[in-house]
Amino acid sequence: RIFGVIVAESRHLQSETGALSVSRKTDSKDTAISLGKGRLIGGDCRPAVIAGPCSVESLEQMMNSAACLSKHGVFILRGGAFKPRTSPYSFQGLGIEGLKILRKAADEYGMLCVSEATSEGNIEVVADYCDIVQIGARNMYNYALLEKAGRIGRPVLLKRHFSATIKEFMLSAEYLLKSGNSNVILCERGIRTFENSTRSTLDISAIPLLRRETSLPIIADISHSAGRKDISAPLAAAALAAGAAAIMVEVHPCPQAAFSDGGQQLDLNDFGELVKSLAAFNA
Ligand code: PEP
Ligand code: MN
Repeated sequence: RIFGVIVAESRHLQSETGALSVSRKTDSKDTAISLGKGRLIGGDCRPAVIAGPCSVESLEQMMNSAACLSKHGVFILRGGAFKPRTSPYSFQGLGIEGLKILRKAADEYGMLCVSEATSEGNIEVVADYCDIVQIGARNMYNYALLEKAGRIGRPVLLKRHFSATIKEFMLSAEYLLKSGNSNVILCERGIRTFENSTRSTLDISAIPLLRRETSLPIIADISHSAGRKDISAPLAAAALAAGAAAIMVEVHPCPQAAFSDGGQQLDLNDFGELVKSLAAFNA
């Protein structure tokens, strides 16, 4: 591995921030995170695909999604129950009812599930129902929530804030480790730039840069970054080529009728095509 050499470089974050728990140790291997049910992500595992609707909307929607996704080898089902929406008038999620539906669909098809905790008030119930707790981009700077997530006893999928530097992202992950949770997955999900043909700009550089800095798995959300579905296949391929341990993608049985993020969600057929296009990555 090349990382031992890179660690010595003067621009390494560790030299600016002191020795962090989250930092890659010289010559260390990539860390595989144990997710439960014998499933792993990162390390030398084959790349994973985390997929599912933006929001949990109904049992039927989640069952249809899980049936199709599991057939394509997806073992982590996503679905938002507590939704961090830009407008307070937008669909806010089904809350605990949504978590119950997500769990039921995941169990029915032998999958794990991930959902976002948006506050210190709902993180415990998210951890009760889900195998992985997501901390969304908007909460990457919510240090009290990060500390609570550090004690929650579930792996955490931490998304990069759309305005966060890599160093800030690393330091937010450090809050999780310092609070006792080393089962952390870091997710690049696009940053704000002047470009407006995509919702955010998927920062591909962040993937190899983060891999230099930490041995934790780095994944890429190709849906919230692009905000469109027509470039999903090249974005997914680029992320995997750059070293992502997984991609996250929003998939909905009927995107036109979705309660949130309809424009960026793939339908089940398109998802099948996406998976086919990634055959070379063994994803
Ligand atoms: C999500 O994954 O449901 C989400 C809201 O993403 P982000 O926090 O990256 O905007
Ligand atoms: Mn979404």
